[in-house]
Amino acid sequence: MMDCAICRHGSLEEGAVTVVLERGDSTVIFKEVPARVCDNCGEELVSAEVNESLLRRAEEALNRGATLELLRYAA
Ligand SMILES: [Zn+2]
Repeated sequence: MMDCAICRHGSLEEGAVTVVLERGDSTVIFKEVPARVCDNCGEELVSAEVNESLLRRAEEALNRGATLELLRYAA
């Protein structure tokens, strides 16, 4: 079990979070993104691998001309 680096009291539990990425007028919202969430302060940690995937998929959505897109991470 990893301790939270922010509050140093909580422990990080496996969970799922919502991540919002914005660029200019465009917004891409990812639901059910796997993350570790602190049970004390609520800090959300998304792994570099997951983060890269989010950025790549957001880029694809923006390239399609989306201004608001809601995606499920697992889909
Ligand atoms: Zn914490």
